[in-house]
Amino acid sequence: MKKLSGVSASPGIVIGKFFLYQGNEFHDIPRYAIGKTQIDSEWRRFLAATEAAAADVRALHDKAVQETSKEKADIFQAHLMMLEDTEFQDQIKKQLEADRENIEWIVSDISRGIVSKMVSSSDAYLRERAVDIADVSHRMMHKLLGVKEFSLADLTEDVILVAHDLMPSEVLAMNKDRVKGILMDMGGRTSHTAILARAFGVPAVLGLSTVTREITTGDILVVDGGAGQVIINPSKSVLLKYQDAIKQYQRKQDKLLSEVDLPAETKDGHRVCLKANIEVPEEAEAVLHYGAEGIGLYRSEFLFLTPGQAAEEERQYHAYSSVLKAMGDLPVTIRTLDMGGDKVSPNIQPADDKNPLLGWRAIRMCLAQPDLFKTQLRAILRASVHGNVKIMFPMISGVEELEQALSLLEEAKAECLQRKQRFAKKIDVGTMIEIPSAALTADILAQKSDFFSIGTNDLLQYTLAVDRGNEKVSYLAQPFHPALLRLLKLTIDAAHAKGIKAAMCGELAGATFATPILLGLGLDEFSMTASAIPMVKRIILGTTIESCRTLAEKAMGCTSYKQTDTLVNAWLAEYFPSK
Ligand code: PEP
Ligand code: MG
Repeated sequence: MKKLSGVSASPGIVIGKFFLYQGNEFHDIPRYAIGKTQIDSEWRRFLAATEAAAADVRALHDKAVQETSKEKADIFQAHLMMLEDTEFQDQIKKQLEADRENIEWIVSDISRGIVSKMVSSSDAYLRERAVDIADVSHRMMHKLLGVKEFSLADLTEDVILVAHDLMPSEVLAMNKDRVKGILMDMGGRTSHTAILARAFGVPAVLGLSTVTREITTGDILVVDGGAGQVIINPSKSVLLKYQDAIKQYQRKQDKLLSEVDLPAETKDGHRVCLKANIEVPEEAEAVLHYGAEGIGLYRSEFLFLTPGQAAEEERQYHAYSSVLKAMGDLPVTIRTLDMGGDKVSPNIQPADDKNPLLGWRAIRMCLAQPDLFKTQLRAILRASVHGNVKIMFPMISGVEELEQALSLLEEAKAECLQRKQRFAKKIDVGTMIEIPSAALTADILAQKSDFFSIGTNDLLQYTLAVDRGNEKVSYLAQPFHPALLRLLKLTIDAAHAKGIKAAMCGELAGATFATPILLGLGLDEFSMTASAIPMVKRIILGTTIESCRTLAEKAMGCTSYKQTDTLVNAWLAEYFPSK
């Protein structure tokens, strides 16, 4: 028996067999010179790989036709055309003859060149097609290198997924019915992989450093997501303890779910609003079971990350409409594209952003590509007739960016009118406060915002200079750091001074240990992973706003996060002794 500790990324306990996923990325494509006499054989290898890849794509196309999935069938049809494109083949042959290098290198070099040209093209259609070229080249590479492609969507048995690192797009693609737990060497609590694991209700422990090296075939694992622990080959008594803990966990969940219909109101009548964060449209309906009063953050960029699918206006329109319809009259805040950082897509993010977290991310990328941005805004506007939509801009660093974004929204409205497309008359537009400069100028931003939503994941990352995905520095990401508390207070006070609502959609909104301070600081709306709503509500129902205000006031006087931690723990022990 061996115990490993990591970052608690998604609660829940699971016991089972593991599947070690080694990924499909090719980081080191072999590159070597070939002799003149080898050109023919390299060319024949290329033709054979093309034929094998085309056979796979034809089979996928036929399957999509059988499943009457026209969208998928069209994509595979387009991939087939690319594989058979004579211009592409001529380009390969010319470079092979001129450079005399191995064919894998030539294919990867030419494909990368095409993808990067398409990504920076001013034509939105071409930009969207870049993902297909990347996909086709990936398939070719598997054939040329003789590596079998494995998709996490193909898992057929219940497993605990173990990986060194997983991209959010891989988590999106995995077979969610089969993945019962996730363990990773890398990753922090607010990485998007962790956020997705919570969204899908899969217990996860990240930042384990060596888990991929510690396990061997046949091992049984216990994953305790809430405690951030993993036990390899538990003894009989430990196994019994965890089997019991699974039952207790379930009982606790059932009890919490019995309160979902109660309003989120303190004992002395202070009402706040609890909403859910979602990443994919399919989550929308489920959030209602947890008592969500709306969606406070729909991370629209995940639509752009779905492997092999471009997010054209129609696809976006359907996704947004489906979320709005599922929520009825309840408000849905769609956050405009926040690509970049750990959310990368070959058709949008250029591969050479050296410092992605400080680079071409979110609203910066959208303002630089008005076509891409306005396509999304038009899709949201058109969907607005199906429900109660709000729009929110991510990563605003100052008022100039907000003004530009608002003016592009006006342009998108004018375009819809010109095309005779209807949209709701009044749509609230909010600003995410997730960069310190935004929090420090919240009074200015409030003049042009209908609401604020605080993104504590990034606000903490940028305030304390802590990469949110790097487990080695996650110990520094202390939400009760006086710097963060001051920025939260500044933001909430600035919102209230202007008479607008202050919401929070960062992970802190769903952390029960922070609920009393956030209530005390005056936060109006908490938006979180849906499954966290009942626990946050429990805290709200069991407290008074008065005691929370006193606590927040004391916290603002603390000089270190440790002092505030102690203060909060004492408060929780007094008001929730059984917790
Ligand atoms: C945040 O930064 O807190 C946030 C909600 O946005 P994301 O986690 O998607 O960056
Ligand atoms: Mg953010």
